[in-house]
Amino acid sequence: MAGQTNLFENVNRQFDEAADILGFSHELRELLKTPYREITVAMPIRMEDGTLRVFKGYRVQHNGVRGPQKGGIRFHPDLALDDVRALASLNTWKTAVVNIPFGGAKGGIQCDPSKMSPHELEMLTRRYISKISMVLGPTRDIISPDLNTNAQIMAWVMDEYGRKNGHQPACVTGKPLELGGSQGREAATGRGVALCAREAWTRVLGRDLRGARVTLQGFGNVGGHSARFLHEMGARVVAVADLGGAVRRQEGLDVPALLAHARQNRGTVAGFPGGEPFDPAEIWAQEGDILVPAALGGVLTETTAPTVKASLVVEGANAPTTPEADRIFRERGILLMPDILANAGGATVSYFEWVQNLQHLFWEEAEIFEKEEKVLLQAFRDVEEQVRRHHCTWRTGALVLALDRVRKANELRGW
Ligand code: NAD
Repeated sequence: MAGQTNLFENVNRQFDEAADILGFSHELRELLKTPYREITVAMPIRMEDGTLRVFKGYRVQHNGVRGPQKGGIRFHPDLALDDVRALASLNTWKTAVVNIPFGGAKGGIQCDPSKMSPHELEMLTRRYISKISMVLGPTRDIISPDLNTNAQIMAWVMDEYGRKNGHQPACVTGKPLELGGSQGREAATGRGVALCAREAWTRVLGRDLRGARVTLQGFGNVGGHSARFLHEMGARVVAVADLGGAVRRQEGLDVPALLAHARQNRGTVAGFPGGEPFDPAEIWAQEGDILVPAALGGVLTETTAPTVKASLVVEGANAPTTPEADRIFRERGILLMPDILANAGGATVSYFEWVQNLQHLFWEEAEIFEKEEKVLLQAFRDVEEQVRRHHCTWRTGALVLALDRVRKANELRGW
C-alpha cells in the first residue's frame, strides 16, 4: 500500500527525531512505539457468483493512556499489518496534538470494494465487526471512516456491534445523521486541512491565500472537501489527480462543478470537461503553490519530492511523506504541515460525535465548525511554539508535543 516504503518504520524514524529532542530513554521509546494489542482475523464470505473467498482483516490498538483508542477502518487490496500499526500510532500522536481524550487505533480489511456488490460489502463489514467486537466499544476502541469506507459502512458497524452489546452509537463515528452522526463530520477533515493550509500560508509564510494555486492528489472525502474549503477561502485549485484520472487548469478549476462531476462519475474527476486531462502520476510536478496529498501513504519519496513545485505541503493523507522526502523538503525550504496536525479535524469532530452520542444531544453545524476551529487553531499554536523552541520542522514539533503529552499521561497512570 505504501509502495517500496514501510510506513511503520517511517513513522518510528520520525518518532525517534522527536524522542531525541525530549531525551527519551531506550525503554520509554520501546514502550511508546509498541502497539498495545494487535488482532488479525479471517472472514470467509460467499460471494454472489457462488465462490467462497477468505478476506483478511486487522485491528491494531496502539496506545490508550489518554482515553479510549480511536481510529478509522480502511478497505484496500494492499493493506498490510505494518501499515495498520503505523496508522494506529499516528492516531495516538494525532489525538494528543489536538488534545482530545482519546488514544490511537486503526483497522481495515484487505479487499477491493470497487469490485464488490453492496451486499458483499455489508456481509464483509458485519463479519469483521463480529470478530473484533469484544475489544471495541465507547470506552475501549471507537471506529471511524477512512480510505474507501463511508457513513453507510459505519451504520453497519453500529448495527453489528449493537446485536451483541446493545444499541451504543458512541462505538463508531462518521455515522449517517439519521443514526446519531454529527453535523459537519463528513467535511471535518477537509475543513481542518484547509484551515491548516490557510494558517501556514498566511501567518507562517506571510502570503495572501487569494489566488494561491492548489494541487491535490485524491478527491474523495478529504481531497474533495479540502478543495471546496480552499476554493471558498479564495484559493485557486489548479490540478487534481485521483485513481481514475487527472485534470488541470491554471486559471483555476470550477470546484463545485468538479465535485458534482465526481459525484456523477463513480467519484472520479476523469472526463471533467472544464479542464485539461493529464497523467495522474504527474501530479507532484504540477505548477502550484500549495500541494495537498489526500490519497495514499508513502507517495512523496526521494523520487517525487524533488519534482514538487509548491512551497507548502499540507498532508491531508496519513503518512504520505517518507523521511527521505521530509529531508528533501527541508533542504529545499518547502514548509510541510504534518498529517497529525493537518488532518486532525476528522478525529476532532469524531470526538464531538462521541460526546453528543454519550449525552444524547445534537449540536448545530455552525457550533461544530466553531469548536473544531478552536481546537485546531490551539493545536496549531501549540505546535508552532515547539517549532520555535526546538528550531525543528513542524512534523518534529508536532511529535514533540504529542510524545510529551502521552508520556506525562502514562507517568500519572503508572507504568
Ligand atoms: P476516500 O476513499 O474518500 O478517497 C480517496 C481518494 O484517493 C479518491 O479520490 C481516490 O480516487 C484517490 N486515490 C486512491 N488511490 C489513488 C492512487 N493510487 N493515485 C491517485 N489517487 C488515488 O478516502 P479519504 O477518506 O478521503 O482518505 C484519504 C486519505 O486521508 C487517507 O490517507 C486517509 O487515511 C486520510 N484521512 C482520512 C480521514 C477521514 O476522515 N476520512 C481523516 C484523516 C486522514
